[in-house]
Amino acid sequence: MKKIYGFFFLSLWFNSYFIQAQGVVNDYVLGTQELAIVPFDYLQDGNEQSLEDIEAGFFSSPYSVKSFIEEISYGKASIDGIVYPYRANQPPLYGTGYTNCYPLDEDIANQPDIDYSIIDGIILLVHSNTTGCSAGLSAYGKLPFTTADGFFEFRRSGFRVDFYFPYEFSGITNSTVAHEIIHSFGIPYHSNSYIKVNEEWFLQGYGNVFDIMGIRSEASHPCSLIKQQKGWLTDNEIENISTSGTYRIHALEKTLPGQVQSIVIDLPNDLDIQPNDNFIFSKLYLEYRGLTGFDARNNRNVVLSDGSLHTIQDPHGLLIVGADCFMNNDYCVPVIIDTHPEPLGGIGASYQPHEASDAPLNLGETYLVGNNSISIEVVNVVEGEYIDVNIDFNTLSVTENSGISELKIYPNPTSDFINIDSDENFSFGVKLYDMYGKLLSSHTRMNQINIGNFSEGVYLLEIIDWKSNQKRIEKIIRN
Ligand SMILES: [Zn+2]
Repeated sequence: MKKIYGFFFLSLWFNSYFIQAQGVVNDYVLGTQELAIVPFDYLQDGNEQSLEDIEAGFFSSPYSVKSFIEEISYGKASIDGIVYPYRANQPPLYGTGYTNCYPLDEDIANQPDIDYSIIDGIILLVHSNTTGCSAGLSAYGKLPFTTADGFFEFRRSGFRVDFYFPYEFSGITNSTVAHEIIHSFGIPYHSNSYIKVNEEWFLQGYGNVFDIMGIRSEASHPCSLIKQQKGWLTDNEIENISTSGTYRIHALEKTLPGQVQSIVIDLPNDLDIQPNDNFIFSKLYLEYRGLTGFDARNNRNVVLSDGSLHTIQDPHGLLIVGADCFMNNDYCVPVIIDTHPEPLGGIGASYQPHEASDAPLNLGETYLVGNNSISIEVVNVVEGEYIDVNIDFNTLSVTENSGISELKIYPNPTSDFINIDSDENFSFGVKLYDMYGKLLSSHTRMNQINIGNFSEGVYLLEIIDWKSNQKRIEKIIRN
């Protein structure tokens, strides 16, 4: 499996250079995108979806692709256009791959009733029984076409699926269409996740279950990094931070111009979660998913590998999205980090991307950013509205005059007790975390902590000096 994703990474990487040269990824998509929706009928069997349903699926249903695009872009982008009549008697589909599934560009560009001069994109709806075809596909950004009206550039997407009413499982009339249209806006990658499989971190393709550019069985908003690349979140809503403090992040799903909806931390040191793979994060995007709007329709029941159903109790919270960046940080690919990497329900999801369904950091939990002295703690949540996050950039630093540096912590490694020696005037708290920032126990001025009940491995002991608020973190090895 690792090799597959290694290959995936390579193709993405080369792609990124190509795309960068085209200037596609960071091209904003603002305003109404005019589409020509052109159904091609290769069967004429009477099972074609009606033009009225196609129109409703794209534009007029409350669950339409248009309403989804408008919500995720905060009204900054939309789609509109004409649904053209079915085309019969077209040259047959033939060959392998694309030509077996979708009409050729020369045929697309040669439809006398289409005004190519006014469109931003063309949508091909294919009614055929040729096989080996994906449900949808898109070019990333605009392509050149030579038409009877002249030379034009426009986007091209193709679909071989019907719309569902009132909506499909995802909460939208067709999530494949929505996903592909965002590709056509110039997003050449998928939103992935970092999950843990067999004790190793693993990049799961399509693994961001909170992002329509990850798993599209949930019609979720794209992550804040994608929204930034498309111009939907601007510097007014994205705050770059580099100092400790408590920060408020408003729900990503709401239209709140001028309110912070994403926080970006430029990491002093790259975060390399799994050293023997190819992924390294130079930034973290923090966003609050409040499960409002389209996100509220999401289903958080995960089928486990034994066939039973596992309900995620608290699916909203702080999402930590690592940005794997290329080209001097100009081009970044998002990956959510699962802050609860233990197997779902104790045995794991039957479909592995769902392992990231419990990725959000919840109230009271802390995530310690590896290879950096940064901790991220959720200190307050107003459900559906905002989350308050305490970010400490000096978690590991200790000043000279604090008693905290004088504490003796021993033995280490240990199989049962950790002793903390301090003088009597020193008041402090102690928290024990696992390596992923999950709080295991919390104590007040405790001089001895038993970790004998925990399994072998590495733990983090955090000591907080209540006078100075300074913190010290020690790696403890339980053997
Ligand atoms: Zn895709």
